[in-house]
Amino acid sequence: MNRITILGAGESGVGTAILAKKQGYAVFISDKGKIADKYKKVLLHNDLQFEEKKHSEAKILEANIVMKSPGIPDEIPLIKKIRDSGIAVISEIEFAKQYTNAKLIGITGSNGKTTTTLLLSHILNKENLNVGTAGNIGASFALQVAQQKYDLYVLELSSFQLDGIIEFAPHIAIITNISPDHLDRYAYKYKNYVKAKFRITKNQTENDYLIYDADDKAIKKWMQNNKTKAKLVPFTLGAKIKESKEGAYVEDNKIIIELNENTFIMGIANLALLGKHNVKNAMAATMAATLLKVRKNTIRESLSDFEGVEHRLENVLKINGVQYINDSKATNINATYYALESMETPTVWIVGGIDKGNDYDELLPYVNEKVKAIVCLGEDNAKIKAVFSNVIDLIVETKGAEEAVKVAYKIAEKGDTVLLSPACASFDLFENYEDRGRQFKAAVRRL
Ligand code: ADP
Repeated sequence: MNRITILGAGESGVGTAILAKKQGYAVFISDKGKIADKYKKVLLHNDLQFEEKKHSEAKILEANIVMKSPGIPDEIPLIKKIRDSGIAVISEIEFAKQYTNAKLIGITGSNGKTTTTLLLSHILNKENLNVGTAGNIGASFALQVAQQKYDLYVLELSSFQLDGIIEFAPHIAIITNISPDHLDRYAYKYKNYVKAKFRITKNQTENDYLIYDADDKAIKKWMQNNKTKAKLVPFTLGAKIKESKEGAYVEDNKIIIELNENTFIMGIANLALLGKHNVKNAMAATMAATLLKVRKNTIRESLSDFEGVEHRLENVLKINGVQYINDSKATNINATYYALESMETPTVWIVGGIDKGNDYDELLPYVNEKVKAIVCLGEDNAKIKAVFSNVIDLIVETKGAEEAVKVAYKIAEKGDTVLLSPACASFDLFENYEDRGRQFKAAVRRL
């Protein structure tokens, strides 16, 4: 009998367990921490064997295959030991894809994955295609493969999920952009992180497509030095790329997409989501939908009525003529860069938290141009103060969402914007970015 050990009993671990059992595997789940009650119930209900707060090595090593949850680093001794014993260590995506014939669309990148994934799903749903949305979003891919019969999947893929693939090959891959993130998991080498992202294309064939940001430095460099078999479909905010017959570009404030011997044109002003980064996300989603033969009208309608995603440049309220925006998901410089870029009125900027090695200098031009005051929201704000005190007169430190919002409220005047776009992780003062965003919104609503 095939034996699988699943390390980590979160969304992907529990989903894999259910699928593996259905496929006739003997399943053992091991979690070094405490398993959340909601998942423990599912394991008990499905009669799955598990342990928590420990890893029983001997039992783990009885497996023919190990599924490692994305949160567990590759470098820990247990994983090394498993590999040394000749047992393959794979991710949930690799395991689950063996049990579905659905067409797969994989979306990766440092920023924009969730937005592009949900935008594409919105288009495909509007076209009435039978589509599942999975990956880092909602129910795991494995669980959906076990319980649903979708013709298509749109998968949001982190670099950690891609690290654990062997044969996984999406028919359409999208790389939204690449900027430094999670370097602690890649031996602090940016090169390794870029390589992990490009694993999305490594098993693609001549019949598959790679949609990518042709303006992105790291992507361009990889393209120059490496090859993929997939058909290349670039997008750019600039003019038409001469070397590419197919792709997306911008002309006269319109996006123009030439693909499948078809041209799609849409005014940027008609897109529901604001900001240049969302023009890129719209181009990427539109090209994937076009390759899947979705009608232009469906795409056009979807791009103009998409409601956006919580915590991503989310409009909260307008109070006394001041617009409050929640961009709590901006946990790195690149995301905040685009948030500031899209500000059209003087901005009181709430920033800070746990910095993953930020180079704030990149933000200086927009801060100079658009920011009237900075409200720090973090335990340690020394770096932010050091970088911006030359250009911003008013920098106030706060230690909670309520306090930050009250301070911002006092500073902002009619016509201004208050933007929470922290460029940092949230764990110093909050449980996670969702908690930070929710507390911010609640504080705004109490004003
Ligand atoms: P991810 O799932 O990759 O983290 P999200 O769609 O959740 O991406 O967006 C994360 C943050 O990045 C948000 O602050 C959002 O406004 C910003 N963002 C979205 N798309 C892009 C993009 N294409 N380039 C840069 N930043 C982006």
